[in-house]
Amino acid sequence: MKKNYDTVWGNALKIIQDNVSIQSFKTWFEPIIPVALKENVITIQVPSQFFYEWLEEHYVDLLRKTIQRELGPEARLEYRIVVENSNPTSGPFTIEYPNYNTGSNDNPDTSIPLVVGKNIMNPFIIPGLKKINIDPQLNSNYQFENFIEGDCNRLARSAGYAVAQKPSGTAFNPLVIWGGVGLGKTHLAQAIGSEIKKTFNGKTVLYVSSEKFTNQFIDAIKNNAVNDFVHFYQLIDVLIVDDIQFFANKQKTQDIFFHIFNHLHQNGKQLILTSDRPPRDLEGMEERLLSRFKWGLSADVQTPDFETRIAILEKKMYSDGIELPKEVVEFVAYNINTNIRELEGALISLLAQSSLNKKEIDLELAKKIIKNFVKSVSREVSIDYIQKTVCEYFNVPLDKLKEKTRKRAIVQARQLSMYLAKNFTKNSLKIIGKHFGGRDHSTVIHSCQAIQNLLDTDIDFKDNVEDIQKKIQMNIG
Ligand code: ADP
Ligand code: MG
Repeated sequence: MKKNYDTVWGNALKIIQDNVSIQSFKTWFEPIIPVALKENVITIQVPSQFFYEWLEEHYVDLLRKTIQRELGPEARLEYRIVVENSNPTSGPFTIEYPNYNTGSNDNPDTSIPLVVGKNIMNPFIIPGLKKINIDPQLNSNYQFENFIEGDCNRLARSAGYAVAQKPSGTAFNPLVIWGGVGLGKTHLAQAIGSEIKKTFNGKTVLYVSSEKFTNQFIDAIKNNAVNDFVHFYQLIDVLIVDDIQFFANKQKTQDIFFHIFNHLHQNGKQLILTSDRPPRDLEGMEERLLSRFKWGLSADVQTPDFETRIAILEKKMYSDGIELPKEVVEFVAYNINTNIRELEGALISLLAQSSLNKKEIDLELAKKIIKNFVKSVSREVSIDYIQKTVCEYFNVPLDKLKEKTRKRAIVQARQLSMYLAKNFTKNSLKIIGKHFGGRDHSTVIHSCQAIQNLLDTDIDFKDNVEDIQKKIQMNIG
């Protein structure tokens, strides 16, 4: 009996159904339409380029085995991709199977123009999907004009500004802005978006937090709308994704983001990402995504110095129409040195207390309030700070800690810094190792043991360590 494509594909589906989850089956296999069978070549029609890539990436083995089972060892699968298009001259076309021999996605085929139909769902639920209608989701409070520049953020700010002047026209693509909480990553990323909106009205800008992106993706899976989700993001000219560390260990979200990233990047679109740590320290993130982030520029924002803190406070006071005695401003700037969000928080507390108690804000009131404020802020000491303290104490050059030197004094300073990092910070052994020139976690464990042995046997060493611990604790306050 001569086989036809319906029965061959029907049989294949039965096998596939037993090998994937119901959800995956619904999302990725039900929409497939078998369209032809010629000898040992079966052709299936899939809804989009993305859909094809996803199948090839995730189900290539399953598909191959299943088709071979039906059509013999010489079996081949061909894809036909529907290009939704109002222009009827460009019909469907076929991709030969298998063509996944590169083993990586470094060069996904982009020869297929993505033409978007009318009925793609916008995950932000904004009616109408003409490109220009996409709301950028920007907060107008975050602008370049009120972003104070200092040594702590100069590189990030100027790279951001360059990107804003020439989206996707600089080498900073993606632009990754990283740094601790409250140091201005969101502000800066949004300012870039707003600036682009002002200068290039026609560009579609979108700001999204990684958390929101992830939730939208989960919803899209539930609603069988993954294609719409991807197509929506592929419409964006300037995509800003905040706090990408949130993607860690979320495999599927990373996969989809990888596809969107590639599509946008290859089509000359700008990506701006923020992260609470440098890309190389993002654990639980796929290597291929990390390698993408290296294509552009990573710039960090650091804790602002005293002068910058004063400037930030003054700017804030000015825009809120508040006046404060100089000594109060200096007192606040001097005592709140962790991050800018806290600096603003302290200012707000001051204003609240003064209006509550109908009292002028003077140094005395400031002292009272800031004292409580500082106490309530739990500060964690950083590995860098520990390294610096230890090196200063033993008079050892800081960069030697990261090198391979086996000199005794340096080895000891290095091991002690690891030991203190383990005890005073919440960092994992892996992260600690990375701060010491990329040593692995077993080296850190070994160092901690070595120091523990010394502490148990060498009283002088123990005294030294106690001294250093005091210095570090003073900083934690
Ligand atoms: P992050 O995203 O790094 O956690 P944010 O961008 O949310 O930090 O910044 C925290 C607060 O500090 C915001 O209110 C922001 O406007 C303000 N801020 C941060 N950096 C600056 C800066 N350089 N100049 C003025 N305000 C800043
Ligand atoms: Mg933020």
